[in-house]
Amino acid sequence: MAYEMCKRCGKFFGRNGRSYCEDCFKKTEREHDLIIEHIRKHPDATILDIITATGVTLKSINCLVEDGYVSYIDNKIKKLDKEEISRAIDKIIDTKSKFHIRRSL
Ligand SMILES: [Zn+2]
Repeated sequence: MAYEMCKRCGKFFGRNGRSYCEDCFKKTEREHDLIIEHIRKHPDATILDIITATGVTLKSINCLVEDGYVSYIDNKIKKLDKEEISRAIDKIIDTKSKFHIRRSL
């Protein structure tokens, strides 16, 4: 059986076609729903708003960004349509440095 290292917790797990172990996958799915729900209700939410309101960690948001579920836009996060995802990847790379600066505030 092939093993992979979980992108979130670093544990090794049996390959399942995903980047996360089973536990982290469930957690990520749940947090994804929370974030999307929050963005729907508050389209102008900042990353900080989302973290405060949902209890989702910065790390989780980063994972969702890496997976193309959401994208940073000027310190905000927004849900993407499928067609937007490839274009958004460039944007994510651009805004990552901004994000790190914000984090150290
Ligand atoms: Zn994990």
